[in-house]
Amino acid sequence: MKATLTVLGSGTSMGVPTIGCTCAVCSSPDPHDQRTRPSIMIEYNGRVVLIDTTPDFRQQAIREKIRRVDAVIYTHSHADHILGLDDLRPLSFHRADGAIPLYAPEHTVPTLKRIFQYIFESDYKYGGLAKVDLRIVDGPFELFGARFEPVIVLHGDAPIHGFRFGSAAYLTDFSEIPPDSMEQLRGLDILFLDALRHKPHPTHSTLENSVRIAGELKATRTFFTHIAHELPHKETNAKLPDNMRLSHDGLKLEFEI
Ligand SMILES: [Zn+2]
Ligand SMILES: [Zn+2]
Ligand SMILES: [Zn+2]
Repeated sequence: MKATLTVLGSGTSMGVPTIGCTCAVCSSPDPHDQRTRPSIMIEYNGRVVLIDTTPDFRQQAIREKIRRVDAVIYTHSHADHILGLDDLRPLSFHRADGAIPLYAPEHTVPTLKRIFQYIFESDYKYGGLAKVDLRIVDGPFELFGARFEPVIVLHGDAPIHGFRFGSAAYLTDFSEIPPDSMEQLRGLDILFLDALRHKPHPTHSTLENSVRIAGELKATRTFFTHIAHELPHKETNAKLPDNMRLSHDGLKLEFEI
């Protein structure tokens, strides 16, 4: 089945430009150097599925003219991946299918319920809350005729979820991909990998490490995401192998799901 993947955001947790920073990338006139927080949208079979809802979700949804969301899949519960949950409100009110299902790894559930307690444990009688239905992901699952397979990655010492869906995979935050997970990532058309910057970081992959992993996995096309302000878009891309690129906000790719 044909699918479209849209990069809603390609930036690291603080976004680029970073508040208060006057570096060359944060001051760059190139729109590809402006990166909102990391998330993607997958459209297929008339449905719209998001991976993560960032603090920039409202802006991303308006930019991409998102009219519906049929499900959200969460990778982990860091602020840059969940804080846009509340902005699902206007898309959740008048759905023929009821509440928007949220698929999340079990370890994120206490955090989601604590931060969004007013939604999940509400005795608020006046309406206006996001209508969402939290579901635990503990293995591959079917969504509107496509299979989503969690790919366990290490984000520092925390095992979190990346996902494979059809011929594409999205691994947003990781410092290490365990060998079993590498096996799940063979034969891909599109691969997204975390590539924060050049300098090592305890919970994120560097560009160099992700280029090495991409070389090993040999997807037809590899894109990097969760990018900090150390990597200028144009200059960095000019030095990458032909089948690898920094992603950018608004990038759209066709693939088979
Ligand atoms: Zn992140
Ligand atoms: Zn900067
Ligand atoms: Zn994270």
